[in-house]
Amino acid sequence: MTEDTTRTAIVTGAARGIGAAVATRLAKDGMAVAILDLDEGACQAAAQQITDAGGRALGVGCDVSDEASVAAAVERVAAELGAPTVLVNNAGVLRDNLLFKMSVDDWDTVMAVHLRGSFLMTRAVQKYMTEATYGRIVNLSSTSAQGNRGQVNYSAAKAGLQGFTKTLAIELGKFGVTANAIAPGFIVTDMTAATAKRVGVDFEDMQKFAAKEIPVQRVGRPEDIAAAASFFCSEDAGFVSGQVLYVAGGPKD
Ligand code: NAP
Repeated sequence: MTEDTTRTAIVTGAARGIGAAVATRLAKDGMAVAILDLDEGACQAAAQQITDAGGRALGVGCDVSDEASVAAAVERVAAELGAPTVLVNNAGVLRDNLLFKMSVDDWDTVMAVHLRGSFLMTRAVQKYMTEATYGRIVNLSSTSAQGNRGQVNYSAAKAGLQGFTKTLAIELGKFGVTANAIAPGFIVTDMTAATAKRVGVDFEDMQKFAAKEIPVQRVGRPEDIAAAASFFCSEDAGFVSGQVLYVAGGPKD
């Protein structure tokens, strides 16, 4: 039995997509996993899948951009699953548009979920990490951090998360807490399917086109990101902090 069997992890936006794959993987690694997402029913269904496979999981409805919702969710996780010492800030939204057409609402929504959400979650959970003198934080950035047409809001938020990650690493290192970021490339999820729909391209065609441009000649799967998150969240990764890992099938940085 590894020490990971005693850890409680929180994964945000984990009812589907990359978050669900990360939650499933951390449960397989032996952690008790809290699945946070907007829709409590969807969280419970995702948690049930993990429980059915023999893991420990709890589904909790939470809006990561809302301070009171975050506080209540984190307290509930600590009470029902154990003090959280692993946090994956994965919840995300897209509100793509060219700068001249982008509304203030679309800018604010993206900042609220990615940046404010990661800040609120991390601030709430760090208390348990510093008390335990152990913690693993993983933030979901993106290759879009390097700039992507139509994503001035998302790109700024994902680049912001890289600075957030490095500063967490500096501030929390002395408490045994590491912070790292994963920057995925094209991953097949509802998010990329929605982008295909928005631009009027068949999703299968979009994947084929994207695969041709990717050195490993395929698009990514949520499990590709989960594998990287598993490493950053492991005990073994204690000397790896403040890093940004591009998981994009090729060199993006
Ligand atoms: P997804 O399938 O759209 O899943 C995102 C989840 O986050 C959804 O379940 C969504 O809930 C939830 N969420 C949205 N706002 C929330 C809030 N305020 N509080 C709590 N949960 C919230 O997206 P994904 O593709 O798995 O992406 C996961 C993360 O990876 C995101 O941060 C994304 O930016 C990043 N990423 C993805 C890709 C990619 O190619 N897919 C590439 C780079 C980075 P609702 O469905 O109810 O809105």
